Amino acid sequence: MGKTIPNVFMYWCQHKAKCRWCEQDVVAGTPVIQVYYWNKGNEDNRKWNIKRYYHPQCWIDQGLDYLKMNPYVPYQRKPKSKLTDKQRELRYKLLRQKASIDQRKRGLKSEYPDRVLDEARLDEQVSKIMVQITKVGGIPKKWLE
Ligand SMILES: [Zn+2]
Repeated sequence: MGKTIPNVFMYWCQHKAKCRWCEQDVVAGTPVIQVYYWNKGNEDNRKWNIKRYYHPQCWIDQGLDYLKMNPYVPYQRKPKSKLTDKQRELRYKLLRQKASIDQRKRGLKSEYPDRVLDEARLDEQVSKIMVQITKVGGIPKKWLE
C-alpha cells in the first residue's frame, strides 16, 4: 500500500460498529472515531477506499503503539544552502524543466508508435538535467523515488 492520507472524524455512533483496535463493538450513542484512508489514485479519480472505526481511546492507543514502533528522531535542521543567487536561479530553472518533462512523459500515448523514441529522448534530457543539478545543490530526493 502506498502512502495514504487519513481523514479522522469523531461523532456519536449511530450504528453499532466494530473497533479496529480492540475488535469490540462501538455501541450506538457512544463516541466513535471514524477514519477514512485516501486512496492516492490520481488527480481526476480520488476515492475513499478504506473506512475504519475506533473507540476514541483505542484510536489513541493504536497511535501510541505506532509511535512506539517508530521512535522519536529529533528534527535535523539542514545546513543552510550556500548557493549564490545565480546558482539558485539555475536550480529553479532545472526543477521546472524536469517537471515539464515529467508532464510530457505522462502525456505520451502508449499506442503511439514513436512513444519509445520520445521516451528515450525525454529520459536523456532528464539525465542531462540531473548532471547539471548536482552542481547546484544536488538531486532532489523526490527524483530518485
Ligand atoms: Zn476499541
